[in-house]
Amino acid sequence: CLSAFYMRMKVKMSRVLIKRLIEEINTMTHKEMKIMEVCGTHTQMISKLGIRSVLSPKIKLLSGPGCPICVTHEEDIDTAIELLNHNDITIATFGDLLRVKGTKSCLLDEKSKGKDVIIITSPLALIQMAEDNKEKKIVFLGVGFETTAPIIALTIKTAFEKGLDNLFFLSSIKLMSPILHYMFKQPNNQIQGLICPGHVASIKGANYFTFIVDDYHIPAGVCGFEALDILGGIHHLVKQISENEKIEFKNLYKRCVRPKGNPTANQIMKEVFQVSQGEWRGIGKVEGSSLIINKKYERLDAVKYFDVKIKRLKQVTKCACSDILLGKKVPKECPLFNRGCSPLHPQGPCMISTEGACAIAYQYKEE
Ligand code: SF4
Repeated sequence: CLSAFYMRMKVKMSRVLIKRLIEEINTMTHKEMKIMEVCGTHTQMISKLGIRSVLSPKIKLLSGPGCPICVTHEEDIDTAIELLNHNDITIATFGDLLRVKGTKSCLLDEKSKGKDVIIITSPLALIQMAEDNKEKKIVFLGVGFETTAPIIALTIKTAFEKGLDNLFFLSSIKLMSPILHYMFKQPNNQIQGLICPGHVASIKGANYFTFIVDDYHIPAGVCGFEALDILGGIHHLVKQISENEKIEFKNLYKRCVRPKGNPTANQIMKEVFQVSQGEWRGIGKVEGSSLIINKKYERLDAVKYFDVKIKRLKQVTKCACSDILLGKKVPKECPLFNRGCSPLHPQGPCMISTEGACAIAYQYKEE
């Protein structure tokens, strides 16, 4: 039938385009270059599609700070564990976070000791859960970037408007642009091109990332997650890096990303959160890089409600996750990679999360 014919033609045309993009990228590449993809989903797709294997070895694709589990600070885990010591508290969070260690323990260890830790896939499900379990106090440990912030904000607003008094929030939401500023300001920054995170861009808009070109003169672009999208993004960057062309920003993901993003999502974030200093695992404090619950909704803020005070302990670790997240190292350059650190016995969060650079490099046996 006609639709099957079009589908076959589309696949054939994609193959032709992919082949042409790879040839052009490799022909243009005359010197070594470091390109970073920030989003964990891009990291996954680059490895799954074997993109490194078809590109010139001169192109080094590095992962950036876009895996929310990997950047969650030890103190946030310690705070959740401290909260578990209060009677009747249930900690709800995303599955990958359970194995991420605080300074002493992780939520999975606490669960195995009998503490009440549950995994959820959507924060909104907590509303019903809180309504059905009035005797329980539920605390949601919410991590993520601008991508998950709107749904967490909507959950907070809904809980507030329903007057729920047994659902609280521990916000560890990070913002993408401040950490990119931080990274590019490092004296030894070697990133020459950036594939911007498509998911964050769909919320914040493509314009959110034009500062990379304007302030740092580094080629950048937003691209989607298919082979053609990613290769199109790499082509855009390599052309500018190799040919010293006028540096420009491009939105190559127009089917999902508008210049100013999603106004409804941005509005709900603005309504519920305020910008604050953020603590990044292994990196430290970054000005204006986190979202915390604002004054209007603070009765749902678990830290304030339960008056949690935790003792700050210094973490001593050989894990190189922070260097990997800032593009200074690739997973294989960590001495523990596959020698004491593996998905079964992770030593750092980059080996735990499905979006972590080390877990992905391990899964796809990357050199
Ligand atoms: Fe950390 Fe393990 Fe990755 Fe090394 S291999 S950086 S220890 S997660």
